[in-house]
Amino acid sequence: PEDIRVYEFAEACGKSPAEVITVLFGLGMMVTKNDFLKQDELEILGEEFGIEVTVKDALEDVNYVEDYHEEEIDESNFVNRPPVVTIMGHVDHGKTSLLDKIRSSKVAAAEAGGITQHIAAYTIKQNGQKITFVDTPGHAAFSAMRARGASVTDIIIIVVAADDGVKQQTEEVISHAKAANCPIIVAVNKMDKESANLDMVKAQMAERGMTPIDWGGDVEFIPLSAKTGDGIDDLLENILLQSEILELKADPNAKAKATVVEASLEKGRGPVATVIVQNGTLKIGDNIVCDTTYGRVKAITNDLGQQVKELGLSETGRILGLNEVPASGTVMVAQETEKEARDIATTRAEHARAKELSKSTKVSLEEMSGLI
Ligand code: GDP
Ligand code: MG
Repeated sequence: PEDIRVYEFAEACGKSPAEVITVLFGLGMMVTKNDFLKQDELEILGEEFGIEVTVKDALEDVNYVEDYHEEEIDESNFVNRPPVVTIMGHVDHGKTSLLDKIRSSKVAAAEAGGITQHIAAYTIKQNGQKITFVDTPGHAAFSAMRARGASVTDIIIIVVAADDGVKQQTEEVISHAKAANCPIIVAVNKMDKESANLDMVKAQMAERGMTPIDWGGDVEFIPLSAKTGDGIDDLLENILLQSEILELKADPNAKAKATVVEASLEKGRGPVATVIVQNGTLKIGDNIVCDTTYGRVKAITNDLGQQVKELGLSETGRILGLNEVPASGTVMVAQETEKEARDIATTRAEHARAKELSKSTKVSLEEMSGLI
């Protein structure tokens, strides 16, 4: 519901607002104590604090039922984690080219087994520091993920073609990025072109509240070319700078949590989910629950297509072992036992069904009252 704030939630379950903020922060969600919590954020908090959160109705109270074992969050275990970066922008402004160029220039082709294949997310190293990139097929997918409370992204790159300037989707991306409330870097692409005009892009963006630092604002503009590779190192260095300021931290030994970026049913393999680890370490054999589905991690393939035993903080890979295909933006959480994972998934599925049912009941009552 839209009506419970972070500090109200904290009060209701006997926590401090700081504890609630820390949990969400650890999952890459930036909230302040006065922000409203979304349903999925409530669910995540419920899991984290070992309570079951039942969202009854937008107008009714939220019930808290003691259920799962409480888990202590020990900040002393926090370590820095790599930033997760999403590249967005108008169609044909060069998102895919930029992602491909970054990957091919930073990952040895031999290592990646010839990196022609498209992947949903990958991690590179710049001066020994990791950065994870996510390829959102479109900002629709990105907002779907946000609506689920899964703000997996720490930093947003808005790509604007220097020869084309701000377009309709650029404007949409700007408002999404502002709503996401995370640092934005503007990558002014196609600088190799004759008709490239950096100042035009800066002016158009400044008009929309994205004023360049060298114009007295606070947004970094990086001129670059996905074609020649010029400027890409500047972009990566800037991402690392922003990431330092964010002080991204998580606990590698905590219960594993990972966000699903993409998932599908593969012939002979079953449901396969591409995930980014947000907390803990996801290992083969882990009992996992993911929204209304559950299972046990059977195999993990990393972003280089190699079989691995585990994925660490901000790392990305493909997970085999779920019973059903989860939706993008759902959060995979490791549980102590298979029973726990199954129970949570089953309860959620029941809730979802009950909600659907009450919706249709409401509709039919309304329809009936119209008849009477
Ligand atoms: P997307 O729709 O944002 O993913 O854009 P693409 O990466 O598919 O690029 C659209 C077109 O622009 C393709 O024909 C690319 O080859 C071209 N392109 C992308 N980046 C550059 C660049 O830096 N310079 C030039 N000259 N062309 C580019
Ligand atoms: Mg593309």
